[in-house]
Formats: sequence, C-alpha cells, structure tokens
Amino acid sequence: MTKKKTKKTWKDYMWIISLTYLILGFFNILFAWLGLLCFFIPLFISIFGGGRKYCNTYCGRGQMLNILGKDLKLSKHKDMPNFLKSKYFRYGFLAFFMSMFIVIIFNTYLVFSNARDLKQVITLFWSFKLLFAFSDISSVSPWVAQFAYGFYSMMLTSTILGIITMLLYKPKSWCVYCPMGTMTQLISKMQYKENNCSDCNSTCNINKP
Ligand code: SF4
Repeated sequence: MTKKKTKKTWKDYMWIISLTYLILGFFNILFAWLGLLCFFIPLFISIFGGGRKYCNTYCGRGQMLNILGKDLKLSKHKDMPNFLKSKYFRYGFLAFFMSMFIVIIFNTYLVFSNARDLKQVITLFWSFKLLFAFSDISSVSPWVAQFAYGFYSMMLTSTILGIITMLLYKPKSWCVYCPMGTMTQLISKMQYKENNCSDCNSTCNINKP
C-alpha cells in the first residue's frame, strides 16, 4: 500500500527562515538581533498554553536538521548515549546556556557604559574566536553591535552543535537537549503539573529525536 503524501503548507518551510538568518548574519551581524524572535516566540507560545507547539510546528532549526539528517541522509540514525538524554545533562546545558546569555547581556552593558570597547569577533563554542569585522555597523551604537556579535556567536554555536549531533545520532537529536525545548517543556510541565511523560497528551517528541 502506498503511503499518502500530506500536502505541504507554509509551516513546512520555516527552515528557509533559519537558513536565511544564518546566511544574513555573515553579511551583516546586525541581523543577529532577529534571532531573539526564536528565543521569545517559543516561550510566549508555551506561556500562553501552546505547550511545545513551536517545536512541533514552527521551528525552522528542527526542520532544517530533519532535512539534513533524513531527506539528505546525512544522519547515522543512532541512539544518543543515555547521559545526553538525562535530565541532569539537559538542565545542566540549559543552565550553562542561560549563563552564557547573561554574559552576552553583561558585555553589552559594558560597551554601552563605555567600560569596554566593542569586540568585533564571533566566538564559536565559547572559545574559538573568528575575526569578523567586515559588517557595516557604522549606523548603530557600539552596544547594539556588541549584542549582535554575542548573540550570533551563540546561535551559530548551537546550530553547529545541532549539526554534529544530527550527523552522529538521529536527525533531531539536538532537540533532546535544546535549551528552548527544555524551557518550553518545563513551562508546559508547570502549567499542567505533569511529572511523567507517559501521562502527557502533548505531541512533544523530546524523547524521540
Ligand atoms: S527542541 Fe529546539 S531545535 Fe528542536 S524543535 Fe524545539 S526549539 Fe526547535
């Protein structure tokens, strides 16, 4: 029996937005600010009762990893090691990710208050610095650019992490420990007082990358 194909809608093409975002950042770092939408929209959807709807329907990064891993067959489709799926690792990674976000805001503040000069670098994996001075940032205050460099570094690093885990494990393995996924799951749990995934009616696929 042939499998019936479901008709694609605009929601299936959100990966184009994610890809465009990453490319635009290379041409002008100020586009990095748009990434805040991916930060706040999932939280708003969850807070207003949408659970993990962002993950299941609108996340371009999740779609992009699926296309690379499943459609382009780049993934090894292996199970992740259990420690990467454990709540200690997921919550630990969320705490680390949020601390790095606070550092970005603090560095932005230092530049805003003239306590430090603007650093035009992208930092991959919070250590490897790529000089990145060709963006035209003359039209904005230095602190605006500083935030953009920091935030784009974080977005690029998390995308590369997602691609590495897609290559090594299942296509959407990144989603198991993605900080946004962990946060929206926590919000949903708090709202529905759920402590046990097996009782949950949502279509969350956090344990099924
Ligand atoms: S877990 Fe993260 S990457 Fe995966 S679908 Fe949700 S927001 Fe997107």
